[in-house]
Amino acid sequence: MSQAVKETSHFPTEMKRQAYKMVINGEAVEAGSKDTITVYNPATGEAIASVPKADKADVDRAVEAARQAFDHGKWKKSPVGKRSRVLNKIAAIMRKRFNELVELEILNSGKTLMAAQGQVMQAIEDFEFYAGAIVGHRGAVNNVPGPFFNYTQKEPIGVAGQIIPWNYPIMMAAWKIAPAIATGCSVVLKPASLTPITAIILTEICHEAGVPAGVVNVITGPGAKIGTYLVEHEGIDKIAFTGETTTGKDIMAKASQTLKRVTLELGGKSPNLVFPDADLDGAVDGSLFGIFYNTGQSCEARSRLFVHESIYDQFMEKFIGKTKKLTLGDPMSQSTHVGSIISQAQVDAIHDYVESAKAEGATVAAGGDQVKVEGYENGYWYAPTIITGVTNDMKVAQEEIFGPVVVVMSFKDEKEAVKLANDTKYGLAAAIWAKDQGLIKRVSDKIQAGIIMVNTPFSAFPGTPFGGYKQSGFGRELSIESLDLYTETKSVLSYIGGKPLNPFNL
Ligand code: NAD
Ligand code: MN
Repeated sequence: MSQAVKETSHFPTEMKRQAYKMVINGEAVEAGSKDTITVYNPATGEAIASVPKADKADVDRAVEAARQAFDHGKWKKSPVGKRSRVLNKIAAIMRKRFNELVELEILNSGKTLMAAQGQVMQAIEDFEFYAGAIVGHRGAVNNVPGPFFNYTQKEPIGVAGQIIPWNYPIMMAAWKIAPAIATGCSVVLKPASLTPITAIILTEICHEAGVPAGVVNVITGPGAKIGTYLVEHEGIDKIAFTGETTTGKDIMAKASQTLKRVTLELGGKSPNLVFPDADLDGAVDGSLFGIFYNTGQSCEARSRLFVHESIYDQFMEKFIGKTKKLTLGDPMSQSTHVGSIISQAQVDAIHDYVESAKAEGATVAAGGDQVKVEGYENGYWYAPTIITGVTNDMKVAQEEIFGPVVVVMSFKDEKEAVKLANDTKYGLAAAIWAKDQGLIKRVSDKIQAGIIMVNTPFSAFPGTPFGGYKQSGFGRELSIESLDLYTETKSVLSYIGGKPLNPFNL
């Protein structure tokens, strides 16, 4: 890889390595036990590297480092302009090493070049966004009666434990780290064991850019053990979690014991509504991307497709035709549309859902099975799958599959579309394909979801709030709102009248 990169920190320059280390207090460290976890390339099934398998003592070390950095360090007291500059520097280093980051992300996730490029770019833009946003994040002078004066100030919450999933490894790490360190918080980040590599590299880049030791720490290991320990840890003030709804429930219960601040970005089963006046081809292409982007391993995947009965046949003919044209193969190729699944366990889970749909009487209209891809025979691949003849009460319509599987239903009018769309425990996102502005506004108002996409397959950019209603969690990321979630508001009320107050009048 690029030899042109100058050695500017004590971390290895080369991003591709046999063995990665955690970063605790600015140092590259192994687990105390020296145990490791093997990390695979899911497109090929090959082992690519090892990462440390941390245990509780390692978590203690990381929390202690973050605690020291927050309680006694300079970062939170540094001028906001300095923090902003460091965030921009992180982004600049990432830009310089863009292709290496993309390649590494693909190697560990099996996602396509197009997906990885978009996600690394968004990670970069996230740091740039918060570099700007933090400068304008401030308290207020509030209206109070006569001889009083009140101001509020925003203070960083403290040490944030951040736990992230495997589907967007570097992007999720950026979504978590950037707003936290912008406010002056310290971080202990735990990536998913399947995809820890780019989070480690990003943490190293943070140090290279000038983030002081202890402010950003990364630990790797099993979630059920060290994730739980982080959630229960007395030294942690806030937990920011992205992952499954069931894990989120467990985290919320455990975090309540120390009354930690909690934000949860959880699962989804997002509806994609195609109305009769929609641009048909645009709706087909957008719906295709909405489910098969990132191999369907996306929290905001539009995995329930609702098409108005008057255009159903026409829409489905095109949709099925294009789904069958999607190419699977070399993830590094610009012309590959769909990458691999993250693991064989995930392939099996996806396939169980497809089998359950068949058992409940639905029809597989495309795909429906694990596939062998030429040159990638030992990898984990699943054909882009369309299931028709579905009713909204079927398991496959209610539970998050988290793979390239879409279930399709028709609706007869606006009222039924809204009812079906909301008939789920989730509430992350929804897409509307239509031209009638009145209808778009009415439906947007009635849908219980944090993110509405109107005639677009894209759900968010840095600056747009991202988060769910109902059991998709709470809190918003990727936007100004996150800064409030990493800060406490302190109200300072002063009496500034001449004569001392004597409210008891004694
Ligand atoms: P997961 O819940 O299995 O794991 C997420 C992380 O939590 C991992 O790092 C894991 O090691 C850790 N973990 C596991 N058990 C834990 C426990 N008991 N306590 C603490 N930490 C624990 O999620 P996943 O399978 O990695 O990711 C897929 C899920 O993520 C999907 O449900 C998807 O919808 C969701 N997701 C949501 C968003 C969003 O913004 N709403 C974004 C991406 C992914
Ligand atoms: Mn999981």
